Amino acid sequence: MQHWDVIIAGGGSAGLAAALTSARAGARTLLIERQTKLGGMGVNALVHTFCGLFHPDTSQPWRWLNTGVAQEVGELMMERTGQSSPDLMGRVYVLRQHPSLFASIADELCAAQPLLTRLSGAEWTHLQAENSGWVATVCSRGNSEQHQARAVIDTTGDATGARFLGTEYWQQAPAERLYRPAYVCGLPQVAGTHDEGWRLSLGAMIVCGIRSGALPETAIGAAFRDSPFSGEMFMTIDLEAGQALWDPFDAHKRAEMESAGRHTALSLWTYLRVQHEDFKHCPPPSWPAQAGIRETACYIGDHILTSDELASCQRFENEVALAGWPMEKRETAKGPKFRFFDRPEPAGIPPGCLMNQRLPGLYFAGRCLSADHEALASLRVMGTCMATGQAAALLALAAKIA
Ligand SMILES: Cc1cc2nc3c(=O)[nH]c(=O)nc-3n(C[C@H](O)[C@H](O)[C@H](O)COP(=O)(O)OP(=O)(O)OC[C@H]3O[C@@H](n4cnc5c(N)ncnc54)[C@H](O)[C@@H]3O)c2cc1C
Repeated sequence: MQHWDVIIAGGGSAGLAAALTSARAGARTLLIERQTKLGGMGVNALVHTFCGLFHPDTSQPWRWLNTGVAQEVGELMMERTGQSSPDLMGRVYVLRQHPSLFASIADELCAAQPLLTRLSGAEWTHLQAENSGWVATVCSRGNSEQHQARAVIDTTGDATGARFLGTEYWQQAPAERLYRPAYVCGLPQVAGTHDEGWRLSLGAMIVCGIRSGALPETAIGAAFRDSPFSGEMFMTIDLEAGQALWDPFDAHKRAEMESAGRHTALSLWTYLRVQHEDFKHCPPPSWPAQAGIRETACYIGDHILTSDELASCQRFENEVALAGWPMEKRETAKGPKFRFFDRPEPAGIPPGCLMNQRLPGLYFAGRCLSADHEALASLRVMGTCMATGQAAALLALAAKIA
């Protein structure tokens, strides 16, 4: 048994922020990650824009919404990619990010913390309450280890800890309403400038390809975005994934969805190389380590943040982070439906979204925080996940149980 002050399970946006905050405050911190790189979906699923980093009022010059790790990572990304400001896309500011650089920034920031220990390729498989706190079991390549701490922060995105503890601690939307998964891949060496007109004519070409039978129906959900580096693009293919039969916890269904994503991406690459001059010299797509999963399960905390609270820009006296991204609902592969906040102002996230009094010492953050399905469509973006990850660590430290 190894002993820590704080254990963080999951090294995505939320876990990274929690781990840095905890170690910087002097707590002996363990960060458990089952992939080989930190950054979660922003690295392993090639999600390539940071949303939720900026104040929602786009009539004003851009400004950071949450200070701390979210701003720090955003600033480093701007510096490394040579961007001096975020992009204004319609009614929101977004920052293009590069997944390879995000992984490296996470490595550097973690390596600078002597009190932070990272486990890589290690899956958290069990959680148990004991008098001395929590005991987490971790498996890696056939090895099983136990780690004990007074505070555990679940940033796995899947409410993994709650699912170990019992059905009363987590919730999940019905399968047909879960935000759809998507397959994102990198496309190097795409020529030309890619404005709205370019995107529209590309969309029309894809529709023709589907009508003629050259492309599968799933290609209709393809969207193309520039990386911060010229010539490189990312292609995102939203997938229905069986709609009402979709179960993100079913490994068989995930395998089918991953291979449908690759099949669609490869068909698009093959088709566009012949049909579209700008894709003529594009080598095969680079695959992500995993498909992008937008929604699985959430915790039930002391407060379940609702879409109406977000939309009305509700603030809380004891709020621990701010949300500013509109609710971007993706219940089908046909594109998002937005619900904007009533005013161009942020909403508060109270501590009860990150804890449950019946589970002292267990905190949760990122896309498995306590919120309703529609609110999650805003709170799950990476900027907000970093802010809630940081807040969860501060709550654990303030409770003096860490
Ligand atoms: C296709 C797609 C497009 C998106 N577009 C955007 C966008 O443009 N901008 C934006 O800001 N957000 C976007 N998002 C949302 C965003 O990427 C995620 O909601 C966000 O990354 C969640 O962060 P997180 O830290 O909560 O979880 P994750 O990023 O999912 O990280 C969780 C980490 O926990 C690890 N983990 C899970 N279970 C275990 C376990 N049992 N043991 C050990 N480790 C474990 C995982 O490997 C992972 O690294 C998108 C998401 C998808 C899927």
